Amino acid sequence: MADAVFIGIGSNIGDSSAVCKAAARELARDQRAACFTLSSLYTTSPVSDIVQRDFLNCALRMSWSGSPEALLDCLMKIETSLGRTREIPDGPRTIDLDILLFEDMVLDRPSLTIPHPRLHVRKFALVPCLEIDPTLVHPRYGRPLAEFLEALGDEQRIEYLERIGEDEIYPARNCCTGDT
Ligand code: AMP
Repeated sequence: MADAVFIGIGSNIGDSSAVCKAAARELARDQRAACFTLSSLYTTSPVSDIVQRDFLNCALRMSWSGSPEALLDCLMKIETSLGRTREIPDGPRTIDLDILLFEDMVLDRPSLTIPHPRLHVRKFALVPCLEIDPTLVHPRYGRPLAEFLEALGDEQRIEYLERIGEDEIYPARNCCTGDT
């Protein structure tokens, strides 16, 4: 069982707030996932040369009793169930689910890199993770995530939007009351 797995959630097509919450809800239904802590929702500027709407992003921490590959498979199925098609790279998307951290694992497989290869250079991933746990350290580089965030300039915009109520997401069986 992996106790601290961080998932990044993003959307910039449709009702993005509802889609991000639906993705978290789908994940919470999986029997292998438990003990959720969810970040706030943020409005973020797209990191892309393609002109497109701002994204909504959040992150969640959970435990996962399965392999990282099984988790990626689970995330891709949730993306498909929420209407994600494989669009142009860096283009707009209904839903994007990424494995940001899988405890302190470092993994380099053709279809899966952990930590996520762009975690340390994306405010939309760093800020929600650090909201959940400000002490996180990047397993590959051995430096606090907060240092990577400080090193980023002003080009990427990120603004707090709203808290997500736990009752909007979690089935009772998955709640770890008092979990921080
Ligand atoms: P995208 O949906 O554009 O984020 O890309 C998804 C693809 O990235 C998947 O097919 C995965 O094989 C690959 N990938 C590699 N590392 C990760 C990761 N840490 N989390 C999610 N997808 C990953």
